[in-house]
Amino acid sequence: MAEVSPEQLNSLRGNAHLYNQQPATTKQSQETDSALPKGVVLDKDGKPCRTCTSVSSWRALTKQAKADSPTSSSSTTNTTSATSTTPTTPLTAPATHPEPSIPADCPPDVEALGRSTWTLLHTMAATYPERADTQQQSDMQGFLKLFSRLYPCWVCADDFKTWMAHPSGRNQPKLSGRKEFGWWMCEAHNEVNRKLGKKEFDCRFWEERWKTGWKDGRCD
Ligand SMILES: Cc1cc2nc3c(=O)[nH]c(=O)nc-3n(C[C@H](O)[C@H](O)[C@H](O)COP(=O)(O)OP(=O)(O)OC[C@H]3O[C@@H](n4cnc5c(N)ncnc54)[C@H](O)[C@@H]3O)c2cc1C
Repeated sequence: MAEVSPEQLNSLRGNAHLYNQQPATTKQSQETDSALPKGVVLDKDGKPCRTCTSVSSWRALTKQAKADSPTSSSSTTNTTSATSTTPTTPLTAPATHPEPSIPADCPPDVEALGRSTWTLLHTMAATYPERADTQQQSDMQGFLKLFSRLYPCWVCADDFKTWMAHPSGRNQPKLSGRKEFGWWMCEAHNEVNRKLGKKEFDCRFWEERWKTGWKDGRCD
C-alpha cells in the first residue's frame, strides 16, 4: 500500500462524479459498476478520502491503482473533477474479501478514526462536571460545534451536524451535567450505529463502559 503514490490515487479522480452523486440514503450500497472500488468515499476536492473510507475499501483502491499504474500515465489527464459535494456516507461494509487490518502506525481509516474519537468524546462526557456551570456548558457547546465542522471524515461530520441541528431541537447537546451529557453522547453514538447497521448500545450502561468500569470487576 505504501508504494502507491498520491498521483496514482489521484489518477482515479476521473470517476469522482460517480461517487459524489450517490444519494445520502444509499448508505450501504454504492453502485458496483463504477471504476472505483466499492466503498471508496471521495473528499470534497474529488480525491479519495482516506479518513472517510474503510481500510478494506482503501486497500482495494490502492491495489487497483497499482494494477493500473504501468499503463495509466494517460489517465492522469482524465481529471474530470467532482462538482457535486452531496454527502456520501462512508461504507463500513467489508469488501468482498476482508483483509487483515493495517499496521498500527499507518494513517487511520474511517473506523480507526471513529473508535479513537468516540473514546475521546465519551471520556469527555465521563469527566464532565456533575453540575456544569454556564462557562463549562458554553465551552462544551463551542467544542461540539467546532468538532462537527472539523471532524476529518467530512461526510461523518456533515451527518453529525445535521443530526444535532434537527429542527425540533431534540438532538441539541444536553449539557447541564455529566449524566445528561453522557446519555446524550450515547444517543449520538447510537444514531451513527443505526446508520451503519450496527447494534445499538444500551445507554443505561454508558457510565460503566466509560467511567467506572464494569460491575464484574474486569476493568479493576
Ligand atoms: C461523530 C462520528 C460520526 C461518524 N460517522 C460515521 C459515518 O458516517 N460512517 C462511518 O462509516 N463511520 C462513521 N464513524 C465511525 C463509526 O462510528 C465507528 O467508530 C467505526 O465504524 C468503528 O466502529 P466499531 O464497531 O469499532 O465501534 P465504535 O462505534 O467506534 O465504538 C467504540 C466502542 O464504543 C462503545 N459504544 C458503542 N456504541 C456506544 C454508544 N452508543 N454509547 C457509548 N458507547 C458505545 C462500544 O464499547 C464500542 O466498542 C463516525 C464516528 C464519529 C465519532
